[in-house]
Amino acid sequence: MSDSKIYISYECVHKLCQEAADNLRQFNPEVIIAIGGGGFIPARILRTFLKEKGHKNIPIQAIGLSLYEDLGNAEYEEKIGKEVIRTQWLDFSSLNEHKVDLIGKNLLIVDEVDDTRTTLHYAVKELAKDLDDLAKKLGRDSEKTTISVFVLHNKDKPKKAELPEEMMATGRYFAARTTADEWIAYPWEAADIDVHTEHARAQGNI
Ligand code: 5GP
Repeated sequence: MSDSKIYISYECVHKLCQEAADNLRQFNPEVIIAIGGGGFIPARILRTFLKEKGHKNIPIQAIGLSLYEDLGNAEYEEKIGKEVIRTQWLDFSSLNEHKVDLIGKNLLIVDEVDDTRTTLHYAVKELAKDLDDLAKKLGRDSEKTTISVFVLHNKDKPKKAELPEEMMATGRYFAARTTADEWIAYPWEAADIDVHTEHARAQGNI
């Protein structure tokens, strides 16, 4: 990865979500699953642009995933880049109580950046598996759940994990932009948002 950073403004995030919504609408997302924390703000903005007049807002569910390397735990060094832990996951029983049904629905997983693809691979695989198990348990395995993925940025680099071939082949993986393998500085991480926005403006990411 090079040392230079790509600065992204809030306006830029907003516009990338707006632009992507036109493509995402064709898959009729019925529930958004935001991977925290980077997926939260894009997910909320997307919901605005995916809302159809006269229809309810699309519900957003949050999941939290961390790579072992982010936890800085040396014990797990051998798992770096390979394993993810769930810091927050869907509680299917409480979803049911609140009438958010994921089985047979079009689900849209949202994160800010696809770097090594480890996180997205885990989220898609585990969500599909859990919903499959639940559908079987409830005798609803004939209902087809479809998962799509949206990220603001996909880094053009060799990935450490893959997404299902069928998802890629049917265009259910969307990246608003493909970037070089550089660190992307998002506005919600900025210590000084004015300086950050100036950097973004200088790079045309406004
Ligand atoms: P993965 O390697 O699994 O695709 O990405 C794991 C996580 O690392 C992302 O969800 C994101 O939180 C973080 N990450 C990876 N690359 C970047 C980057 O360039 N900028 C920021 N802000 N976070 C990143």
